[in-house]
Amino acid sequence: MNLLEGKTVIITGASRGIGNRIAEVFALHGANIAFTYRSSEKEAKDLEKELSSNGCKVKGYKSDASDFDASQKLADDVLKEFGSIDVLVNNAGITKDGLLMRMSEEDFDSVMDINMKSVFNMTKAVLRPMLKQRKGSIVNMSSVVGVKGNAGQTNYSASKAAINGFTKSTALELGSRNIRCNSIAPGFIETEMTDALGEDQVNEWRNSIPLKRGGTTDDIANVTLFLASDMSSYVTGQVINVCGGMLT
Ligand code: NAP
Repeated sequence: MNLLEGKTVIITGASRGIGNRIAEVFALHGANIAFTYRSSEKEAKDLEKELSSNGCKVKGYKSDASDFDASQKLADDVLKEFGSIDVLVNNAGITKDGLLMRMSEEDFDSVMDINMKSVFNMTKAVLRPMLKQRKGSIVNMSSVVGVKGNAGQTNYSASKAAINGFTKSTALELGSRNIRCNSIAPGFIETEMTDALGEDQVNEWRNSIPLKRGGTTDDIANVTLFLASDMSSYVTGQVINVCGGMLT
């Protein structure tokens, strides 16, 4: 079943990790894909090649999601190239962990800008075309730590909690225009972001999860597919925890 046939999607941060897998899964479901990256040129080219060889219309854009003007330009360019914007996945994100005592202002600001302000930038940028077509689905990548907090991640958890508030307010504002907005709160998903953790810490995480494993990028991509597609046409304003039962 092609759940995204003929739909144009923008995915921020698809050169690696979760965004990369979302792009692959969306391509399998017939989407036309515009994706962004910040610096991974080679990975972006590889993804373009991989998806277009499967018959998908795809283009990678080097675009900093934390930059308001660049986000607007990206949406304009995608509209020109693809003709519509039906789905936005705000996935780009970074961590700069550290105890609050030692956290620099720069590390706080960069995490807020790339994780949270990017969601404002990109949502604003796609609003006009979505309002015009009276249809759209926006999916924001949050985190369980935005729901429950985490020591050593005040900046990151604040950015993800802010995304959840933004998601709910956007859903309330735009529901009457048939534009839906939801967030996904992944738990511990094994990607390059989590490779930075030591083996002992990873095992400790795995053991603390009711399903006794870290999540995969497929686990997140499949829920993103559901929220992007018309399968979820009566779901908006929700934060969906995808965390193997870490949060109940
Ligand atoms: P990742 O492997 O580090 O990949 C991050 C992606 O975001 C890369 O494609 C990167 O591009 C891109 N990016 C970073 N800054 C950007 C910017 N300013 N503008 C545009 N793109 C930018 O991360 P991940 O683990 O897949 O995480 C993806 C999302 O899921 C993030 O929002 C993260 O907070 C969230 N999340 C992850 C986990 C987890 O366990 N992994 C758990 C909860 C939530 P370059 O390759 O060019 O740098």
